[in-house]
Amino acid sequence: MYDFEEERLLKELKQRKPKRVLLQVPEGLKKEAVRLAELIQDKAKVQVVVSGEPLWGACDIAISEAKIIQADLIVIYGHAPFYKPSFPVVYVEAHYRKNIDKLLKKTLPELKAYTNIGLIASVQHLHQLPKVQEVLEKAGKKVIIPLKKGHAFYDGQVLGCEYNALKIVSKNIEAFLILGNNFHALGAALAVPKPIILLDPYNEEIANMDALRNKIIKQRFAAIEKAKEAKTFGIIVGVKEGQQFGSVEYAMERLKKVGKKYVVITMNEITNDKLVNLYNVDVFVELACPRIAIEDVAKFEKPLLTAREFAVVVGDSTWEDLLNRGFL
Ligand code: SF4
Repeated sequence: MYDFEEERLLKELKQRKPKRVLLQVPEGLKKEAVRLAELIQDKAKVQVVVSGEPLWGACDIAISEAKIIQADLIVIYGHAPFYKPSFPVVYVEAHYRKNIDKLLKKTLPELKAYTNIGLIASVQHLHQLPKVQEVLEKAGKKVIIPLKKGHAFYDGQVLGCEYNALKIVSKNIEAFLILGNNFHALGAALAVPKPIILLDPYNEEIANMDALRNKIIKQRFAAIEKAKEAKTFGIIVGVKEGQQFGSVEYAMERLKKVGKKYVVITMNEITNDKLVNLYNVDVFVELACPRIAIEDVAKFEKPLLTAREFAVVVGDSTWEDLLNRGFL
């Protein structure tokens, strides 16, 4: 189902001549990791070490791992560049190859009420946008593919934390059609207050994100309200090089001003198991991937807030601001 671009990768390795490669593959593609490692070793004659850690995004480059095993290159599957890493990296995006024509036909009735459509995709599906645009335009729609912004590497690309391009075009758009999965579609729904229609090639379905958006918004409201009553805050600083969100100085200064106690904590993976022992902290604020707080709400015993939500708790922003300008 995916294009692993083996030829291009081998060519790149030939040019770069690494001695040892650390191979990072997201969970969904991990079953291919052994095959890819063997291929690189056999054809490019380069030693390969497969990272057994999860790869959540292009923000999640395993630079420390690579240094420990003395690799001189990291190969990352399933992602496009996100930030400028302090280590050589080759990206292979793994484009999705399955035909989506049938599903696309099913999408048109869902878009019946709208003329101006914003068209976006996760990196695996960007190559399918021209075809989708053609079909939509033949059906009388006006299609806008937003120009890249922020962490996005391509026009029309969305990431779990990057929806600024949508916000820019949003006022001229009645609904967004997104090619990808639930994760990216929910992010879009939390970023812009417009109908978000998901064309999901994995589950072969079309979904409107309204119901899930409303459910998550209620959860976020509850977490923020609980945080307002907290006495002690845990400010979690993410130590992944690509996952720097918010400012620890700002968080400390604001908590001091509003008379709350705090402790600053560093973390690589943020999990409830690690947080439970910090029993005298009432609320955690994470300055790392904002989707951890939003996605994993049921996994955490105590409220876990994003940097934007924290600004509401300390009075620098409002709930209405979050709703209008987006949670992401
Ligand atoms: S959503 Fe989180 S995991 Fe995905 S790219 Fe952004 S910071 Fe990384």
